[in-house]
Formats: sequence, C-alpha cells, structure tokens
Amino acid sequence: MPPVPTLTLETPVRALFGVGPERVALIERLGIFCAGDLLLHRPNRYEDRRHFLKIADLKLKEPATVRGKIVAQGLKQFRQRSKSVFEFVLDDGSARLHCRWWNLPFMEKYFDVGDEVMVFGKPNSLRPRTIDHPETEVLDPSEDISIHLDRIVPIYPLTEGLPQRWLRSLIWRTLHELESQIAEPFSEVLALTQNKIPSRANAIHMLHFPEECEDAELGRQRLALDEFLALQVELQRRRRNLEAAARAPLSPGTNELMKPFLAQLGFQLTGAQTRVLRDIRKDMSGTVPMRRLLQGDVGSGKTAVAACAALMAIESGHNAALMVPTEILAEQHFANFCRWLKPLGVQVALQTGARKVEGREQNDERQPALHATFDPRRSTLFIGTHALITPAFAMQNLGLVIIDEQHKFGVAQREQLVRKGSFPHLLVMTATPIPRTLGLTLYGDLDISVLDELPAGRGRVRTFVRTGEQLAKVYEFMRGKLAEGRQAYVVYARVSEADTEAGIKAATHEFQVLQKEFPSHRVGLLHGRLNGAEKERIMSEFRANKLHVLLATSVIEVGVDVPNATVMVIENAEQFGLAQLHQLRGRIGRGAHESFCVLVADLKTPEAQERLRVMEKTNDGFAIAEADLKLRGPGEFLGSAQSGLPPFRFGDIIFDTRLLDTSRDLARHIVTSLPLSY
Ligand code: ADP
Ligand code: MG
Repeated sequence: MPPVPTLTLETPVRALFGVGPERVALIERLGIFCAGDLLLHRPNRYEDRRHFLKIADLKLKEPATVRGKIVAQGLKQFRQRSKSVFEFVLDDGSARLHCRWWNLPFMEKYFDVGDEVMVFGKPNSLRPRTIDHPETEVLDPSEDISIHLDRIVPIYPLTEGLPQRWLRSLIWRTLHELESQIAEPFSEVLALTQNKIPSRANAIHMLHFPEECEDAELGRQRLALDEFLALQVELQRRRRNLEAAARAPLSPGTNELMKPFLAQLGFQLTGAQTRVLRDIRKDMSGTVPMRRLLQGDVGSGKTAVAACAALMAIESGHNAALMVPTEILAEQHFANFCRWLKPLGVQVALQTGARKVEGREQNDERQPALHATFDPRRSTLFIGTHALITPAFAMQNLGLVIIDEQHKFGVAQREQLVRKGSFPHLLVMTATPIPRTLGLTLYGDLDISVLDELPAGRGRVRTFVRTGEQLAKVYEFMRGKLAEGRQAYVVYARVSEADTEAGIKAATHEFQVLQKEFPSHRVGLLHGRLNGAEKERIMSEFRANKLHVLLATSVIEVGVDVPNATVMVIENAEQFGLAQLHQLRGRIGRGAHESFCVLVADLKTPEAQERLRVMEKTNDGFAIAEADLKLRGPGEFLGSAQSGLPPFRFGDIIFDTRLLDTSRDLARHIVTSLPLSY
C-alpha cells in the first residue's frame, strides 16, 4: 500500500480529500489556493445552532434560524416565460413557514419533501409566515452532523455553486489535520504582553468553531494582531536598516541661494512653514537620510517649503527631484520654479512623457530626452511625473527627492524614485490629512511634520449644497462674479457621455451648454484625455485670465493654483468622496477675494444629504477626512491600490486602534533583536 501523503499548509486544494476539479475552480474563485488559505477563510457570521427559534415565534423583519421538515413544495411558472417562483413549506411542529425563490427555477432540484432543513432569513410576512430568498442547509443524515448542528456554526462567503455545508466540512477536516502544524510566529514577544493572547492555532480554531460567541472575536483579534505585526515589523525594519547602513549626502545648506529666494518671494513664510523647515534642515544636515512626511491642508503652502528644501540640497552641491502625479501639476510647478530659481542660476528641468491615459499609452513628443540646452554639470532641480522613475531616465548626484501629493503614489513608486540616488533625503508631501493612528500605520517608517497654519490674508471659502433645479440661479451668481473680473471652475464627474450613466453630466457635453450660457465669456475645457500640450495651453490661458470659465474633471483636483479663480461649481457632487471634494475646493480661496463653492447634487437619501452638509459646515481637512474615513472605510478613502497598505483580512485599522498600538510596541521589541541587513 502506498504511504498516505501527508498534508501541509502548502498542500494545494486540489490535493485535498474530496475536492474534485469543478469544486477546485469554485474555491479558487474565493482566493483559496492551498490548505493554509482555507484555514484563513473568514466566516461572514455565525449561527448559534444550540437553540433554534420556533417557527411560531418568528417576528417580522427579524433575522432568525429555524429548523424543520419540508411538507410540500412546488414550482410555479408564470405566463411571461422568464418569471417563476419556487416555494417549499417547512413545518417544525409549532407552525409552518413558506420559503420562496423568485425566478430561480433550478432551486427545485435542491430540495425534496421530507428533507430536514435549516433556514436563515428575515420574515417578510407573518400571514402566512414567509421568507423570500433565505439561506438554507439541508441536513444529510449520512454526514457527520456534529459539524453543522448543536454548536455555534460558521457561515462562510461562497461562490455560486459551492455549498455551505460542504465547505464547512472541508474546513473542519483540514483544520483537524493541520492544527498542530500552525506555527507561532511571534511567541516570544507575545509573552511580553499583559493580555492573554491565544496561540495562532487556537485563534484559527476559534475563528471557525468557537465554543462561545465571544471566542470568535478573540480569535479574530489574534489574527488581526499578526497582520498588523507583520506590517509594523517590515516598516520598522526598513527604518532601522536605513539608520544603520545608509549614508545621506550632507545637505545643511549655506543660505547663499535661500536668502535671495526668500527676499524675492513676495511673502513672509508662516510660522508653521518656518518650523517645518527647521525640522527639514536638521534632518538634511545629518548622515541618516531624511524620511519625512509633510502634511498640510490644501493651500497651506507646501510648495514654498519644497522649494526651500530643494535649495538646501542644491546649495550643498547636490541635485534635487520633485515628482508630482499629473502633467498639469508638473507644468505648473515647472513654471513656478523657473520663475523662482532661474534668476538664482539654478537649472530647472521638466520630465513628463509617456503616461497611461485610461489604460492606453499616450505618447508625448517630449518623451525621451530633456531639453537640448540641459547642462548635466550644473545644479539641477528635476520636476516630473512618473516619467522620473522610468529606468531610462537618470539623475546624477541626487541629494533630495520630494514627492508632492503622496496619496496619489504608492510606497513602491516612492522607493523607485529614492533608488535613483544612493540614499538621498526624502520629503513626501500630502494634503490628505490622515488621522494619527492611520498615519502611523501607513507611514510607520516616516517622521511626520504638519503645516497647521494657513497663510494670512486668504479670502475665505463659503460652501453651499444646491439641487439641479437651482442651477439657473447658480449660473446667475457665477455671471455676477465673472462680471467682477473673477474666474470660475465647473467640475464634472465624467469626461464624455460614452462613459456616463443616466443623470451624471459629462464635461464634453456640458461644454456646448455652458458656451451658450456664458456667451460674453470665454469658456475652456480640460480633462485627462487631452494630450499634454493641449492641457498645458488651456491651463496657461486660464492662468493668464484669457479663459474665464474652466470646465474640468477631477484632473484639477491636485495642486492647481490660480488665485483669481474664486468660484467652483461641482456637478454631481454625490459622485465624489468628501476628501476629494475638499481637494477640489482647495483650488479656490487662494487669493484675497472671498470664494464660493457650490455642490450641485440631487440627493435621494438623507444620508447622502448629511454627507455633503459636512462640506458646508467645515473647511477643516482633518474633520472632513475623519468623516470620510468613517463613511467609506480606509480602502476607498486612500484608494487601497495606491495607499501601499496591504489588504487586511482580519484587522480593521479604524476600529482596532488598541491592537495597532500593541503591534507597534511589539514590533519594536522584535526589530531590535533582528540582525541588520539591507
Ligand atoms: P499647497 O500646500 O496646497 O500645495 P501651495 O504651495 O500651492 O499650497 O500654496 C498656495 C498659495 O499660497 C500659493 O499661491 C502660494 O504662493 C501661497 N503661499 C504659500 N506660502 C505663503 C505665505 N507664507 N504667505 C502668503 N502666501 C503663501
Ligand atoms: Mg500643492
């Protein structure tokens, strides 16, 4: 007899007992490829099947599980051929319950009169007692019933065609075979904590088959802690290796360029800007590469700080690079920095180029090389988009890397840019105010500075929520402001009608409408599908006040700075997240004039209205970010693909703050006992 192959956590699901090729495909659709994945398949919820409710005691709209025998069943086809209803009647001795499935005629083949069935759902009627589309499990007398009955039972997320009971049995068997093989990754440090933390094996057991309802939560917490720990250890290890091994280009600066720069800037730095620059100078004077995150609400003056930091590097004989997420922003920074730095004899170079537009490669004529007059021997500030990190593009002697609007980039891109030099200093800037815990989670390897003061003499921004019916009045108001010489943005959620559903306006279509609406003013159109040169032309016309109304998509969300633009109308505001609306609104209120933001939305639900009212009530980016985070969760808030945050299966970075704190402390213990490596 051949030896029975032993099971490990790495065993692929297809090699598990009782899993045929069809089921393998279904399981893999759940992201489960090996036995270990199976053990981490998290239940949606649990059912206490130690006690069942009597059918007679069911309450309207209250979810409950009952158990009984099918006493009758039938499929009814309606005259329109696609319509049908399948129904069975369940009896538990106390009363009868009708279970119905609309337009799913195949349900008929899963049930027979006489079957013993468990049913979970919310009664939608009590006369007769009825549940539409309940979850069900047929008890199979040939099976080991103890897995599915007389206990607290896990209910798993499934895919079509995968039976709940079958998956539960599979997990039960796999768990019992492998429980002893589940390793304990952080046992020594976990012993340091006061709290009693279950072993990982125990936690996984409790996750699937808890003795009591609270046990499932205890298990989840342990698994969440492991997830947080893995991330924290990685972040802190990276930081520690950097401090131990990396040698940064000393860049204390000499003030030789900084002095004349500040003198011609036209304004005094705010107290916050000065304080942040002191932090930065201290970092850049040292040999440990700076790793600093600068948080500042829109309009707080991050660009001037970036310019000063760049000058420190350049004064010390190094080059600097500034990466931004959009071409428009690159062009704008390029224009500003040329104006600021060229008179000081600093070379400013722009590098945008091939960049993906809606999944298509778009080629820009500037792409391969820098301008012909570029002199590699002179100190240079490189400004660019993702083009800066393409392998073909080289930057010599890089002393400082600055990333503007960090939330638009992932950690990987940040690293790529840093690798262009040998341990340059790094300054990342973001206008997305990140609540403290989240900041420490995301940026555990960065020091944080905050610009918590807006430059004085700013006009304030007032915000109003209006419905589509009031649009004529909104345009009237806009006309008044345009007559005073101000400019306006009108923002749309979609570029063209081809990618819009009913009720969402598209910029290209509205362009014609607004040209008619404002015949005595020049109206421009800006969106991500225009080529680089065209975007640049339109932006510079708007900046020069040759265009008075600019229709745009969220391409103007980041960084655009035109102080004379004081009105912003955002159509279909319900399509945007709050943090994004705040970013968009940050494009106005940049000059001395009072500014106005009008959010146009037809709000069907009170929640949606409540959400936009937050924008009327506050201009504080932090308050808005917190509200957004609560409403939408971290993934959407940060754009999980971009945030660099691993997807947590068990942890919740909003609610598990205590666990996050613990994980940071424990990670410190772990990391200090690791050997150094880079
Ligand atoms: P953000 O932090 O959103 O990137 P910017 O750097 O674009 O903000 O600055 C917004 C505007 O405020 C710019 O026009 C800039 O020139 C101006 N500004 C920056 N710092 C000051 C200051 N200390 N006093 C007055 N205006 C300032
Ligand atoms: Mg900016």
